[in-house]
Amino acid sequence: MNELKKYQMYINGEWSDSSSGEYFESYNPATEEAWCQVAKGNAEDVERAVQAAHQAFLSSGWANMTFTERGRLVRRLGELIAEHSEGLAKVESLDNGKLIREMRGQVNYLPEFFYYYAGLADKIHGRTLPIDKKEMFAFTSKEPLGVIAAITPWNSPLYLTTLKLAPALVAGNTIVIKPSEVSSASLLELVKLVEEAGFPPGVVNVVTGFGMPVGDTLTSHPLVRRVAFTGGSESARHIVQNSAQNFAQVTLELGGKSPNIVFEDANPDNAAMGIIAGIFGASGQSCVAGSRAFLHVDIYDEVMKKLVDRVSKIKIGDPFLDDTEMGPLATKAQLERVEKFVAIGLDEGGKLVIGGQRPKHLDKGWYFEPTIFEHSDNLSRITKEEIFGPVLSVIPFKDEEEVIQLANSTDYGLAAGIWVSDIGKAHRVAKAIRAGIVWVNTYRSISPIAAIGGSGLSGYGREGGYEAIHDYMQDKVVWVNTSSDPIPDPFIMR
Ligand code: NAD
Repeated sequence: MNELKKYQMYINGEWSDSSSGEYFESYNPATEEAWCQVAKGNAEDVERAVQAAHQAFLSSGWANMTFTERGRLVRRLGELIAEHSEGLAKVESLDNGKLIREMRGQVNYLPEFFYYYAGLADKIHGRTLPIDKKEMFAFTSKEPLGVIAAITPWNSPLYLTTLKLAPALVAGNTIVIKPSEVSSASLLELVKLVEEAGFPPGVVNVVTGFGMPVGDTLTSHPLVRRVAFTGGSESARHIVQNSAQNFAQVTLELGGKSPNIVFEDANPDNAAMGIIAGIFGASGQSCVAGSRAFLHVDIYDEVMKKLVDRVSKIKIGDPFLDDTEMGPLATKAQLERVEKFVAIGLDEGGKLVIGGQRPKHLDKGWYFEPTIFEHSDNLSRITKEEIFGPVLSVIPFKDEEEVIQLANSTDYGLAAGIWVSDIGKAHRVAKAIRAGIVWVNTYRSISPIAAIGGSGLSGYGREGGYEAIHDYMQDKVVWVNTSSDPIPDPFIMR
């Protein structure tokens, strides 16, 4: 058997094994076979990486570069990603099973995020304060925080790292990234480009390995100033507890149970396509998966028929073929989780309309059929809990008030889709839905200019967009006494 490709970790500008010398295997979900080995980091490696990032922050000159210079480097990184997009897309598809078509689109778009934040670099500034004391001149300046810890899940490692990396770097921070143990390879390929772009050693570090101990040690490290986390609620709870140790600021981008609402005046073809994009794109392994479709009773049968017609034709199989529409799930555990939820759905009285099993024509790979359940209400576990797989719950509704109540009856609050022609209704419902992102007559649209994030079990904070760069900075207020008069009574505040 050929020896598997080995990925080392990247600390202080050098590629290295973990201090234990151990490696773990990463699997191709389409073949169920290990295709590479990744260095298995531990607490000692985290210590090395955080110290390297801290030293780079203090003494590499990085934090004191002008914003313009940092912006130029971040832009260069974006350009290198554009040049190497095909290779990056292939590695990510191989590692997490996402369609090569989708990955090409995603990686080709990633540079825009680097360009966006590079462009913001010299447009973020402090202000002078109109202080109410004549002799004082005061101003604010924007300063970086220090060491940032970035932790990402398996489903979109490059995109979700980019949302953290680009603003953190432009702001002048240094960073330690821990990718998911399921799909670390594409980030390690990207880090080669960080090296090529010419960032000082220690500014970007990657420690590969598992949540315990790598993620845990990293997020509780006393030198970490901010944790940017994307992943599940359970891991997020640990991270928030860890932040009680180091008082790191935390951003949590977690999961969802997002509603896709179709009103009676919607374009039924577009609505059906939007629902499919929302739940079967990326085989449902998307934080913004529109896993609950609410169809108005007057349009229910028509949209349901279109859904079932199209879903029955979804081409499921090899993610590297250009005409494949759904690839495998990323792990065996995820496949079993989806199967468990389908069994729960059946137990709780959901009507299985299509799918519900592993596809018969594929004897290898962690594939699951696109699956649709019909429910009369919003009360079963599969309409409440995040599945993170290709399982859609369809529920009828009669009016605007009812659907707002149904859509909001979830502990999550990440995304929502509304399919409607009446513009007034579109605005009313968009306002009433508890979600960080609302798409009207579209779904899964992204841009560096628009932030993502949620509330409740979906987490807190926002990533992307103009606001996000401020999360990676802090304000300093500088007071200057312009008077040469003697200092008066030192025992009272001035
Ligand atoms: P996960 O929480 O299991 O893992 C995410 C990352 O956290 C991994 O790198 C993992 O190693 C690490 N981790 C695990 N335990 C940890 C701990 N105790 N301390 C620190 N780090 C720890 O999530 P997953 O299963 O990889 O991804 C699926 C989840 O991610 C879903 O809930 C999905 O909705 C969510 N997600 C959210 C977004 C978003 O932007 N809101 C995007 C993609 C995925």
